[in-house]
Amino acid sequence: MSSRAVYSATMNSPQDILEHVFGYTQFRSPQAEVIDTLMAGRDALVLMPTGGGKSLCYQIPALARPGCGVVISPLIALMQDQVEALQAAGVRAAFLNSSVAFDEAQDIESALLHGELDVLYLAPERLLQPRTLGLLQRAQLSLFAIDEAHCVSQWGHDFRADYLQLNCLHEQFPNVPRIALTATADQRTRAEIATRLDLEDARHFVSSFDRPNIQYRIAQKDNARRQLLQFLQSEQQGNAGIVYCLSRAKVESTAEWLCQQGFTALPYHAGLPAATRAEYQRRFLREEGVIVVATIAFGMGIDKPDVRFVAHLDLPKSVEAYYQETGRAGRDGEPSTALLLYGFEDVVKLGQMVESSDGSEEHKRQERARLNAMLGLCEITSCRRQALLRYFAEEQPEPCGNCDTCLEPPQTWDATEAAAKLLSCVYRTGQRFGAAHVIDVLRGSENEKVRKFGHDQLTTHGIGTELSANEWRAVVRQLVVRGYLEVEGEFQGLRLTEACRPLLRGEETVQLRKLPPKAARAETRRAAAAADLTPADEPLWDALRACRKQLADEHGVPPYVVFHDATL
Ligand code: ADP
Ligand code: MG
Repeated sequence: MSSRAVYSATMNSPQDILEHVFGYTQFRSPQAEVIDTLMAGRDALVLMPTGGGKSLCYQIPALARPGCGVVISPLIALMQDQVEALQAAGVRAAFLNSSVAFDEAQDIESALLHGELDVLYLAPERLLQPRTLGLLQRAQLSLFAIDEAHCVSQWGHDFRADYLQLNCLHEQFPNVPRIALTATADQRTRAEIATRLDLEDARHFVSSFDRPNIQYRIAQKDNARRQLLQFLQSEQQGNAGIVYCLSRAKVESTAEWLCQQGFTALPYHAGLPAATRAEYQRRFLREEGVIVVATIAFGMGIDKPDVRFVAHLDLPKSVEAYYQETGRAGRDGEPSTALLLYGFEDVVKLGQMVESSDGSEEHKRQERARLNAMLGLCEITSCRRQALLRYFAEEQPEPCGNCDTCLEPPQTWDATEAAAKLLSCVYRTGQRFGAAHVIDVLRGSENEKVRKFGHDQLTTHGIGTELSANEWRAVVRQLVVRGYLEVEGEFQGLRLTEACRPLLRGEETVQLRKLPPKAARAETRRAAAAADLTPADEPLWDALRACRKQLADEHGVPPYVVFHDATL
């Protein structure tokens, strides 16, 4: 255990500790109030976004109050990081969990009993062992901190049965103040934490998740590199930023390409040697204008205030992840940009990752719902910030006026007929082909694959020439996101879902984001034609109507719906 190098007994006001142990000058809101609450011996429930600074809320009072602070944390890796950071700052910190050898555990226990320990991290199951509880009874304790307190929620994805028993702390240690912390914000979880941990009388601190200086933009991906380059050249010259990609290979190639374009770009992913990673992280923090191209491995514990942009070249897998990753921009409060480029391939790829993961059915269901919420955020036509905050159970009464949808409200168009054509074509081609092939058929392509399957003979062959392939892809993507189509199997075949029925029966219309001008013109022409069908069009519409009728009435549409419960 390290000796107390920086922290000393004479230095015990929270402000002193903030400055001299942690090296910061000011508390972030509401750290000071939370700390005061614990200093006064009261309990607290803290809800703060990830990266907001929850740890100091218990670390500082643990040092400022007499005795040792006990921190309950669900993840061994997290404990290790925190203990190392505290030790580096001269705090006498330790953890006890299954990874600690017997001898070492005995040393820690003895330090605790002799008042030589400032902070002790425990896994919940360790804490609940009668032996540990007995030990704690004999020690002087400054507080209990229950980190990641949402683990008590049986509805959440991080439920830990051991957390439920933590209410025993209240009964067994009535004089030790408790603080529960989480970044999971919805009301139900919060209420559950308060009830299950007996924290009804605790002071509640609910921080806003709003990051007003971040401009949120989500654009359709057509040529991601070109779009990124344009963004960097026109708006971010000389700025530090992070570019997130899904795969290591893409991280490497993107970083290399950015260097060729004259930027200082460094790759970062878990496959690089630790020394290289540390070096790149150091350069990002110290040098000006460095761009890190990274997988999600990059970011935890990075606290660089002047990150001006975070760009995503692939879709994050949940709104939480998106919020956390974009949240690394603009910690200094200066205007910053979060740019996400997303396309149909992302929807397919992430969907497949969910389906092929090892988890239980219930886990997959939750992952799907989380992905759908993310897709919903991409496709909304109203204020992004409002939607993002609503996801975290926070109402913002007015549109923000700063996100892409506020600055340039997306126009919508009536895509009912286009959707019907697409769905019919998916059905006619047997619900097993991917988007590219279906679009070829719609656009009347005569390529080899189309001929090989006889799809040039279908009634739906060539009924969609009014839209370009790119525009059709946008339609496919939006229909998948809205649950009319699902993507399945090795070949990413499109299939209809139950949700198609009302649309195919003509009982429902679909409004999609407006397509680029060229497509819009074609759409107007088509709409005019549809209003007053020419004789030449008649067979086409007949075919379409017949197709729809057959689908709606006779075909047993698959009973399952995948992308159906987008919640935004
Ligand atoms: P959380 O647990 O809420 O996700 P952390 O406690 O890990 O957040 O803190 C996130 C980052 O913010 C850390 O790098 C931490 O050092 C930094 N931080 C916390 N409080 C302050 C502060 N008052 N001033 C400057 N940096 C802070
Ligand atoms: Mg934390």
